[in-house]
Amino acid sequence: MSIFEDWGLEPIINAAGAVTRLGGAPMPDAVLEAFCAAAHETVPLDTLQGVASRVLAEATGAEAGLVTSGAAAALTLGTAAILTGYDLGRMERLPHCDGFPHEMIVAREQRNGYDHAVRAAGARLVEVGFNEIVAGAGVRRTEVWEYEAAFGPLTAGVLYVHDPERAPPLAEVVAQAHRSRLPVLVDAAGELPPRANLRALLATGADLVAFSGGKAIRGPQATGILCGRRDLVGAAAVQMLDMDDHFELWEPPADLIDRGRLAGIPRHGIGRALKVSKEQIVALLTALKLFASGAYDAELPVRRRRLEQVAAALDGLPVRCLVRVPADGESLPLLEIALGEPAAAMDVCRRLRRGRPSVQVGHGLLHEGKLVVNPLHLTEERTAILARRLREELAPR
Ligand SMILES: *Cc1c(COP(=O)(O)O)cnc(C)c1O
Repeated sequence: MSIFEDWGLEPIINAAGAVTRLGGAPMPDAVLEAFCAAAHETVPLDTLQGVASRVLAEATGAEAGLVTSGAAAALTLGTAAILTGYDLGRMERLPHCDGFPHEMIVAREQRNGYDHAVRAAGARLVEVGFNEIVAGAGVRRTEVWEYEAAFGPLTAGVLYVHDPERAPPLAEVVAQAHRSRLPVLVDAAGELPPRANLRALLATGADLVAFSGGKAIRGPQATGILCGRRDLVGAAAVQMLDMDDHFELWEPPADLIDRGRLAGIPRHGIGRALKVSKEQIVALLTALKLFASGAYDAELPVRRRRLEQVAAALDGLPVRCLVRVPADGESLPLLEIALGEPAAAMDVCRRLRRGRPSVQVGHGLLHEGKLVVNPLHLTEERTAILARRLREELAPR
């Protein structure tokens, strides 16, 4: 019996992985236990975030870190911190930025739906470069000089959306921004694994990096990480935490929040709507420990076997199956099922969703006529159901 059935819902088979639309990643038992244990006791949230900051700093090499309600929240908070620093007046005015620098420079080819989170803090995005390769109108990507050419008196910082194929490289953009004393905020929400990215992106000198807690780390879906420079992470923390206290009594953790730089206790800030609970913080830290230790790697062979089991079940049907096993020993294997025609793949995808139980497969390669099976949520039982539903829908009719 499923908890969702109590509410009139039948759970689906998630063969799409840690996608946000389907509730993120499955939390390991240790993470769920940490979540429940934390619910039974009270600690002040700023004190807890101070401990989290030390744990995150150790895992990432950053000066400080903050558990946020997601990578998107980390982008809003990181932007807010860049716009205000510890200036109480600016904190109070966000998202209105009249009279102080508020432009974030971003490569046009890096624009995406998540940059709404940056604009939500009050920043205005200023695009540089072109998307000439996609446009079929040229051969070049964004170049470093284009960032510098866009820097001006209203520039607050640079937004960089990370990806292994990104150009120009993060380190070069950071170096250019720092020559003009501007900070760089990196969206690295989905850039784990590899584990090495926990440290590698900050090692470029980037000022703030945002990671998702509910994807590969397998923490609660509504968690994320903002890590980087202590002054910026501290400014983000005071704009997220609840500030209903007396300045005379307020003793925030010194290695997260620099109380000495504040003339008073700010009111609730722009990030107050992005609060995280003590349960989420403890669960995220527990998940991060597992992820960073490589504990998830041991599960990869079982996941691969489940995909091979699905592929074997489709033997004899008019599809081509390919299990892709990344060479890094950290990333999940994926099963690609090639139907040939994009329209046919779309149709099977729809019928799988509408069936009983409803099945959702990865939809990122439909334009190539392929379904993708991600094993993250598959148990032995769900694998068997998935194989049956795929066989039914892929059989010639
Ligand atoms: C998933 C994702 C986000 C949002 O992360 P959340 O933790 O869901 O808020 C932001 N940027 C990129 C590039 C992502 O892939």
